[in-house]
Amino acid sequence: MWKQKYPLLGDIMNLDPVIWLNSHLKQVNNLPELPLDKHDIEEAEQLWHRFAPYLAKEFPETKETNGIIESPLKRITAMEEEMERFYSAISGKLYLKCDNELPIAGSIKARGGIYEVLHHAENLAIDAGLISENDNYEVFASDKFKSFFNQYNIGVGSTGNLGLSIGIISAKLGFHVSVYMSADAKQWKKDLLRSKGATVLEFTGDFSEAISAGREQTINDPKGYFVDDEDSKHLYVGYSVAALRLRKQLEDQHIQVDAEHPLFVYLPCGVGGSPGGVTFGLKQVFGDHVHCFFVEPTHSPSVLIGLLTGEMDQVSVQDFHIDNRTEADGLAVGRPSQFATPISDHLVSGIYTIEDEELYKMLVMLADSEEIHLEPSATAGLLGPNKMAQSSYLENNRLNAQNATHIAWATGGDLVPEDDWKQLYEKGEKLMK
Ligand SMILES: *Cc1c(COP(=O)(O)O)cnc(C)c1O
Repeated sequence: MWKQKYPLLGDIMNLDPVIWLNSHLKQVNNLPELPLDKHDIEEAEQLWHRFAPYLAKEFPETKETNGIIESPLKRITAMEEEMERFYSAISGKLYLKCDNELPIAGSIKARGGIYEVLHHAENLAIDAGLISENDNYEVFASDKFKSFFNQYNIGVGSTGNLGLSIGIISAKLGFHVSVYMSADAKQWKKDLLRSKGATVLEFTGDFSEAISAGREQTINDPKGYFVDDEDSKHLYVGYSVAALRLRKQLEDQHIQVDAEHPLFVYLPCGVGGSPGGVTFGLKQVFGDHVHCFFVEPTHSPSVLIGLLTGEMDQVSVQDFHIDNRTEADGLAVGRPSQFATPISDHLVSGIYTIEDEELYKMLVMLADSEEIHLEPSATAGLLGPNKMAQSSYLENNRLNAQNATHIAWATGGDLVPEDDWKQLYEKGEKLMK
């Protein structure tokens, strides 16, 4: 019955790579009321600035940027040539947004995860009369603050990277932190978390099960706070701040964005929070001139199925006999976010799915051509310009791709240990032959 109504579901259930274009996409002046607006992004940016002195003090890697957590935008011409040689011709210029280099967490989760924990810590400290917004937040690094936070617990369910970001910042602030990990979480991520002082609880099931267990145990504790990746406005707002930063980077590099110079952004997608938050921010900044596409593994197309059927978080990939097994652990999510998905329904231009094999190949190509090391999940957006050339999106929207800027959002990689990364590279090398 589903398949009859939505023919593309047949291909999706066959695990074939697909390109889906969103017929619900709205122009920005035609948007319904959303559960957040531009002020939320600006307030979030202010919170980041209040905490900048604290971050610079506690995390020396952020000293250079005065405690601001941001990543570079890089033009990747050698990779662009490589993609044309290996796949197909593309028009426009290819850039990489290097969130793999984000300090502290080495992934896009540094944006949402650290933001939500800082937001919670600030609330607790203000309520306790320990601080006000005009004070210097360096005091968050003091023993007094650490022992104050030590009476509180933070819980999070994660496939890996969210746990790393929440675990590292929470432990640093003095919180007790428990990370509920799904079966596909990598061993090195668990080891690293334990070394930082987090408690790691392992589950044999998938991400949703880890989240349910964590949610239940954390909220039973009156001093517990659960970071809920399936339904968090704070994570979402934290991610959205990226748009303000990207605007500045584009200006600095003299990259135009307007009707004649469209901006395409390709975002690897798990539960849909990070790509959704970034998209929301970008739409606030660039309006209809930015075109955002999500990318999901063929085995974990949770947001695609939620949007295509209109069922949002009421359906999982397992309901459609899809196994949610992928090497892209950051994207191994069976059920989309309750908060983010209905917003994405209005804002995302489309979604394409990708096979694990391509992720590995692009991991090798990017390392060889640009010496940039990503984790498999993070390479997914690199195929975006090729997918655009194949789809009818440009024609439908009368867009000239010749002047287009394409940004593949590299969502993670810097914390992957050298040995683990070598294994990923070797696997990719074999697939290229
Ligand atoms: C979490 C993650 C994503 C996707 O973010 P969601 O909010 O789950 O959609 C993409 N890439 C990497 C490396 C991640 O860790």
